[in-house]
Amino acid sequence: MSDFDPTQPGYDTQAIIEKDKAHHVHPWQVFDVFRDEGALPIVKGEGSYIFDSEGRKYFDAVGGLWCNNIGLGRKEMAEAIAAQAYQLSYASPFVDLTNIPAAELAAKLASLAPATLNHVFFTCGGSTAVDTAFRMIHYYQNCRGKHAKKHIISRINSYHGTTYASMSIGGKPGDHPPEFDFISDTIHHLSYPNYYRCAAEGMSESEFVDTLVQEFEDKIEELGGADNVAAFFAEPIMGAGGVIVAPEGYLKRMHAVCKANDILYVSDEVVTAFGRLGHWFASEDEFGIVPDMITSAKGLTSGYQPLGALLFSDEIWDVLNAENSGRCFAHGFTYSGHPVACAAALKNIEIMEREQLLENVKEVGPYFEQQLKTLEDLPIVGQVRGRKFMVCVEYVADKKTKALFPEELDIGKRVSNNADELGLITRAIVHLNVMSPPLTMNKDEVDFIVATLRQAIEATIAELRDEGHF
Ligand code: PMP
Repeated sequence: MSDFDPTQPGYDTQAIIEKDKAHHVHPWQVFDVFRDEGALPIVKGEGSYIFDSEGRKYFDAVGGLWCNNIGLGRKEMAEAIAAQAYQLSYASPFVDLTNIPAAELAAKLASLAPATLNHVFFTCGGSTAVDTAFRMIHYYQNCRGKHAKKHIISRINSYHGTTYASMSIGGKPGDHPPEFDFISDTIHHLSYPNYYRCAAEGMSESEFVDTLVQEFEDKIEELGGADNVAAFFAEPIMGAGGVIVAPEGYLKRMHAVCKANDILYVSDEVVTAFGRLGHWFASEDEFGIVPDMITSAKGLTSGYQPLGALLFSDEIWDVLNAENSGRCFAHGFTYSGHPVACAAALKNIEIMEREQLLENVKEVGPYFEQQLKTLEDLPIVGQVRGRKFMVCVEYVADKKTKALFPEELDIGKRVSNNADELGLITRAIVHLNVMSPPLTMNKDEVDFIVATLRQAIEATIAELRDEGHF
């Protein structure tokens, strides 16, 4: 424990908020709201708890932004980062230089990854890992002489990052307002596997999967056949798109279509890797598929340092690395393989192994799912879904018709504001509350989350009734 006393913070909260409002532009800033409300300054983190500048303490059930896997403020992490910064704070990663943490981490990731995914390209985060995959896909297909293989297929409501290319691959309608010009000629979006919302009346899960697989095959045909299709991108469980767990067999069948058509399968594991589902990587161990590429970030360092990694197969490597081809994958970042970030990742993985955090997720995860499901008795809870340490609650105005509340009611935000008051952080995404707690969570903490969220939802129902909305 540090000597920080959250009841005696001594911060000038208002001054911080004013500086922040005047100069700090936040991701996804809604200008009209931010201008008035600003953002809450967070000054300290310990384990699963964060403290604001007024000394209030919150259980952060979101784990930062799906990334705080080992918990905040670990001295061991701070020491590993400091030691590496002191020894070698930076070294160019370009070809003729390397550094020990980067080499060690690449080898470690290869040992944890499925099958032949033995090659690692380090990036600055998840978006740049997806961008790197996109560039490598075209490079690889061209090197093989498959010059027409240009089209990329992903899904509506997927999230793959925020650079122009990765956001073009993503398919969340709210992230695609007309003020932007996304890549649309070579990127295509299929329906997403949300059985609760998208399956036709009376359709079984397996019939629903049949329609999705058929749509994929039809799309390949429509694009002139497999010779024109380069890759398919999918998160094993869709995260920002609403924690969508596809019906049994969906991922395997989509993967089989890729294999049958020489289409690369990219599994975006930026959220699901490093323990969130109880495995180093979820693709094979949770869903039984071996992708050609895996993108990762977040839990790789548990957010202690910015770092992403693209892992790819021997088959792709063999094309890039073909002898006497003169090939150069002209792509990379100043901070690829950053020694301090890689040292943080190595220590983070060591802690997960030593404390058996993956085992904890396997044990506590089903309890979390089960307890959270009890909230479905509340009149505005349409569905509780997710798996292990990646879950969400969907709110509806009418449980029978599944009708949503009007967007301007901001139902997810209302519940999360009420939860904040009770010391629990959840993430609001329109009509959802999403949670991805640190992997250290125990059953008592699950009980706290579920009881507190129940109270926050009940308070929200009372507000809605007072205002005549429910
Ligand atoms: N892919 C997925 C599946 C993600 O959830 C995210 C971030 N939430 C990204 C990519 C982008 O990662 P980053 O924000 O680190 O660039």
